[in-house]
Amino acid sequence: MADILSERPAEIISAVLKVAEEQMVPLMRQSVSQGNLPFAAAILHQSDLTPFTVSVNKVKESPLLHGEMNCIREFFANPAGERPPVSSCLFFSTHEPCSLCLSGISWTGFSTVCFLFAYEDTRDLVGIEGDIDIIKEVFRVDGAKDEARPLYNKTNRFFTARSVEELWDGVADEPEKERLKGEIQKVRALFDEFRQA
Ligand SMILES: [Zn+2]
Repeated sequence: MADILSERPAEIISAVLKVAEEQMVPLMRQSVSQGNLPFAAAILHQSDLTPFTVSVNKVKESPLLHGEMNCIREFFANPAGERPPVSSCLFFSTHEPCSLCLSGISWTGFSTVCFLFAYEDTRDLVGIEGDIDIIKEVFRVDGAKDEARPLYNKTNRFFTARSVEELWDGVADEPEKERLKGEIQKVRALFDEFRQA
């Protein structure tokens, strides 16, 4: 299994920040003005890390059209011969995928996932608590020491998911790491205009 998340963290961070800044934020600005939520997703070629599909949340059309679900829908709207195999793609979400989207990603076979904002950011910055609440209420059966357990397996048989921050931890080149730190802060700040909380 390709492990580009641990092998090419710096390249991935630069690529997803570029997509976020140049494509997602402008698309989100437009979709949010139409009543949708400030979330987006992209499917990139693992080879050169260029985006193949970039999509935004369309909950005004259907409550299930989260950024990731809409991205999966738009990706598969391309004929089979005209889209890359899912195994050669990197799935990027602006925000950590919810339980619906993690399932969508698992069912469609995208095995490499990364995201810019964690569930706690979505709750604290956008004011949406569903990510954590649905997992806790629907999926997490009672057990001892529940709070100590992660909400889902970030490394599992279907996919490996890492936050940009976790990728950043794995960047070995110190000057590059410092530069990327500034880039991450800059792009995260672009999302301030969508803050609800
Ligand atoms: Zn979702």
